[in-house]
Amino acid sequence: MSKYLITSALPYANGPIHFGHIAGAYLPADIFCRFLRQSGEDAIYICGTDEYGVAITINAEKEGVLYQKYVDGHHATIKAFFDKLNIRFDHFSRTTIEEHKPISQEFFLTLHKKGHIQAAVEPQFYCAKCARFLADRYVSGSCPKCGADNVRGDECTKCGEWLDPSKIVNPVCKVCGSKPEIREATQYFLDLKAFAPQLKAWLATKTDWKPNVKNKALSLIEEGLVKRSITRDLAWGVPVPLDEAKGKVLYVWFEAPIGYISATMEWAAKQGKPEAWKDWWFDKETKLVHFIGKDNIIFHTIIWPAMLMGQDKPWILPDNVPGNEFYNLEGKQFSKSDGWYIDTDDFFTKYGVDALRYAIASNSPETSDSQFTWEGFQAANNELADTLGNLVNRCFSFIKKNFDGKIPVAGELKPEDKALLDSFAPVFAEAGKSYRSYRVRQALSQTMALAITANKYVNDTAPWTLRKTDIKRCATVLNAASRAIINCAILLYPVIPDTALKILEKAGLAPDGKAPAFKPYEGSLDNTALGADNTLLFAKILPEQVKAEVEKLQALPRDGK
Ligand SMILES: [Zn+2]
Ligand SMILES: [Zn+2]
Repeated sequence: MSKYLITSALPYANGPIHFGHIAGAYLPADIFCRFLRQSGEDAIYICGTDEYGVAITINAEKEGVLYQKYVDGHHATIKAFFDKLNIRFDHFSRTTIEEHKPISQEFFLTLHKKGHIQAAVEPQFYCAKCARFLADRYVSGSCPKCGADNVRGDECTKCGEWLDPSKIVNPVCKVCGSKPEIREATQYFLDLKAFAPQLKAWLATKTDWKPNVKNKALSLIEEGLVKRSITRDLAWGVPVPLDEAKGKVLYVWFEAPIGYISATMEWAAKQGKPEAWKDWWFDKETKLVHFIGKDNIIFHTIIWPAMLMGQDKPWILPDNVPGNEFYNLEGKQFSKSDGWYIDTDDFFTKYGVDALRYAIASNSPETSDSQFTWEGFQAANNELADTLGNLVNRCFSFIKKNFDGKIPVAGELKPEDKALLDSFAPVFAEAGKSYRSYRVRQALSQTMALAITANKYVNDTAPWTLRKTDIKRCATVLNAASRAIINCAILLYPVIPDTALKILEKAGLAPDGKAPAFKPYEGSLDNTALGADNTLLFAKILPEQVKAEVEKLQALPRDGK
């Protein structure tokens, strides 16, 4: 048995979560965590909102609300959304909690003491009209590399190029629109170069990482690690803990990953065991797994590990960083301002949470970009309805009608029954291996293959005919088919937990909301009374619904247009 500390990238408390985020960092982590618990592993799943930084301040100022009030609102919205999506964190914290400051400052001070953080004077944008330095997104201009307009002061959102004030073309102050001047100012820099050999040696041990993540990390080291500025002149953030750095705060990407630790501290305190976080973060047996989107690879494979390596305390390093590729919507990036998004509340009301979880998971961007399309969603949903939904419905209705609602007692087994019953253990072994190695798509196709086999078994044995000719044989077939249904539900639990539990209830087992153990069901089914629920598991999605949704998407207004 291992111990897993699982995290998902901390979402910025400045906007809604869309399907792209879900596919990248949240659903895969939730699936992984549920699978581990089913397998008897010790796992905690930690996340929270990232609440400092210019992304927050600039939007709060635009709306004319206090920073704290602004993040309070977004934190609540995001948390409610994850609850709805059935993403089950052990703790969902925030980086503005009190615990976050001292631990972030400790990280800074230790690195500073060891000479890994140094002060340097650098040119920065200063707006004379606003009388302040313009950090990051307070400036916009054109990207010197790809020419994109309206890029942020710290990063080109189009090509991903890191920008500094000397590079950006035609800069303007985002607050007042005037052209900023360049002034010299002191900031603090993390010297990543010193960590290159250690990072390289550490990455070399990671033989089970996704190639895209590992190769990206190695190529970043190969290109040469540079000093990165880790402080900003802002009124919102974790203060730099040096007397000579008054008015400066830690740059958000420096303190945000420390949020994984402060969130674990808060979780431990809420358990009434305030020191229990150390059992995770200081225990070499803990497997620390960071689920992220690919845009976060540099932070979780280079900067964050370097920050941990540069500490004095025995912090563990990431065991794996399953970074996912991008997940788009009908060929374009999800974007509310571009009018290219799906209203998630409307979606859940119409189609349900598990339909979305299954659609995303079965087409998850594990190794290459993928996308949500309404046709793809229809296909995934109808696949579930036609195989699993159909199997459950026809077997259990038949039992209710002909066997007084009780799973009939199995008689002597024929080779075809044995073949079905013997197929369960290998599917659990294969799907378990897939879930464990972050290949959910594969786990699902292995599971759906079992559902298809079970459907075929029912077709071939034809219990509706046997009922008239050989009632004992009919009973045996239904008993075996019921067991196949139960095992499909157990296998699918990580991806569609509510539906899986519903199936187990229909089968007359009382899961009581608890995750079923990840192994073939071994209990006797003889005379088990089926649950009373007769509702269909999945509603089919019709072509005209798809057409209407696509038309609705194309008609969405863009911001201000
Ligand atoms: Zn660019
Ligand atoms: Zn200005």
